[in-house]
Amino acid sequence: MSHTLSQLLSFIEENDTKFIRLAFCDIFGVQKNIAIMASQLPHAVEKGVSFDASAIPGFANVAESDLFLVPDLDTFSLLPWRPSESCVGRFFCNIRYPDGRPFEGDGRYLLQQMEQKAAQAGYRFLLGPECEFYLFETDERGRPTLTPFDEAGYFDVAPMDRGENVRREICLTMEEMGIQPERSHHEQGPGQNEIDFRCASPLQAADDLMTMHAVVKAVAAQNGLFASFLPKPLPSKSGSGLHLNLSILKDGKNLFEHFAEHPDPTAASFLAGVMRRMPEITAFADPLPGSYRRLGCFEAPGVVSWSSQNRSSLIRVPAAQGADCRMELRSPDPACNSYYVTALLLAAGFEGVQEKLPLPEPSNYDVYAHGRERGLTPLPSSLGQAVELAQKSAFLRSVIPEKILENYLQHKQREARAYTDSEKPYDYELRQYFSRV
Ligand code: GLN
Ligand code: MG
Ligand code: MG
Ligand code: MG
Repeated sequence: MSHTLSQLLSFIEENDTKFIRLAFCDIFGVQKNIAIMASQLPHAVEKGVSFDASAIPGFANVAESDLFLVPDLDTFSLLPWRPSESCVGRFFCNIRYPDGRPFEGDGRYLLQQMEQKAAQAGYRFLLGPECEFYLFETDERGRPTLTPFDEAGYFDVAPMDRGENVRREICLTMEEMGIQPERSHHEQGPGQNEIDFRCASPLQAADDLMTMHAVVKAVAAQNGLFASFLPKPLPSKSGSGLHLNLSILKDGKNLFEHFAEHPDPTAASFLAGVMRRMPEITAFADPLPGSYRRLGCFEAPGVVSWSSQNRSSLIRVPAAQGADCRMELRSPDPACNSYYVTALLLAAGFEGVQEKLPLPEPSNYDVYAHGRERGLTPLPSSLGQAVELAQKSAFLRSVIPEKILENYLQHKQREARAYTDSEKPYDYELRQYFSRV
């Protein structure tokens, strides 16, 4: 919803809001913020609030010194888990250089540009994420343990499912913040849960995912639990995915309608474009060394394929009606920067449309068992391999500004090496990432 500054200032005063968080996402998908006093908001909107870019991993070497956070007025929300007196509000911000130019490392900016480009060509996209996560118990000092909160499985009910009240609170809190979670359920793994969003514009959906991560962490903590978005926290259990459901609208028509019977040529080429580039995009979609232990098992894809039913596919085009017609991309995981991944997804699809790429045959068989022998392209099997593919990718260079891409890939290469060089990679991963993701 769009708001004017004066409307927001009245709301902030009426609601006893004292602190305003200015939030953004670093290139690795980690949310950062600074709090300003509410009285400083008009100044922040007019001039921005400066921060030391060299202290933000991935931004250094790109911006010389200070960058500015300029609140996006359409993103205001109170943080319901903070006190109900002297409340805390939050904006997502656009990041600017001192002279007002947009900062090229800002994933929101990249995604905004991509949406604008699509709009100019007459397309509109709707994105509906499904996000999985684990709930773990904490120890007597409140530190996370690896003990799952319950032993339940897919769609189980209470009392097996001990997460029902946590999901209830998560959904109600999201609603209070203006986000519409459409569905929630217990997932396959013990303590594993899922929340599915109503589809929205890609930028809105990526912002909402950031909010959702914060809500899930906060509600879990209030219940004495630890929520983990690590892609594969328990080696022998289901990993956590971030499925991205994408609809393409042209002149109000959903291009994925009746896709199985007579695929729309634009949607088909879009899909083909995504399939062609997904191995290169994987360093972004599956960003941690442990992401690769998730792929290729427990309904997470391992090869490039599409199908209308098969859940081992990279892409599924489910049988659906009306606005629900979509493609579901199943490889990304919740540790990714969803601004970058969505921007890359749109760019890859668009490239396919421009080149009128033909869509490969669907793979309506078990691609885990037979995909490779039938010649399907594997997704990278390690972060190191994903980075290698990304380094060679002219496509990535055409979408992501050069220095940002270089920073990202260098960092990922170091992470990949540290993981493989460690004596016990899984233990290393837990030490390095468990409490942070
Ligand atoms: N957890 C699986 C994944 O990693 C998905 C399983 C499901 O949604 N049924 O993507
Ligand atoms: Mg789901
Ligand atoms: Mg699921
Ligand atoms: Mg799904």
